[in-house]
Amino acid sequence: MEDCIFCKIAHKEISSEILYEDEFVAAFKDLEPQAPVHILIVPKKHIASLNDLTADDAELLARIVLAAQKLAKDNGIAERGYRLVNNCGIEGGQTVGHLHFHLLGGREMLWPAG
Ligand code: 5GP
Ligand code: ZN
Repeated sequence: MEDCIFCKIAHKEISSEILYEDEFVAAFKDLEPQAPVHILIVPKKHIASLNDLTADDAELLARIVLAAQKLAKDNGIAERGYRLVNNCGIEGGQTVGHLHFHLLGGREMLWPAG
């Protein structure tokens, strides 16, 4: 999609360090990390938010979760623990209109937020 920053990063139209990619998914560091490890995992195809997923995206979602598992291991947070978060819509705190999951770790997480 034109003018979507995460589409541009996922398709390498903007140079960015890609930490993981496969046919479906790309992952890269968050610009403003909220934890020692803060990685964004996105579908390569443009999906605006979690509200826009369909049953046809089931494999894509599984790939995102498996990418998170691998990135957690590769970044040394698998044993200590981590958080995988999606913010959906205005009250969910979503600021970029391309579905993304935050992989956060390397510090103790607060609950329900922070
Ligand atoms: P949201 O608030 O939508 O859940 O998360 C959007 C995230 O994208 C924020 O954590 C923000 O720091 C990050 N972000 C926004 N623009 C860019 C960018 O151009 N590059 C990268 N790597 N991250 C970005
Ligand atoms: Zn997009």
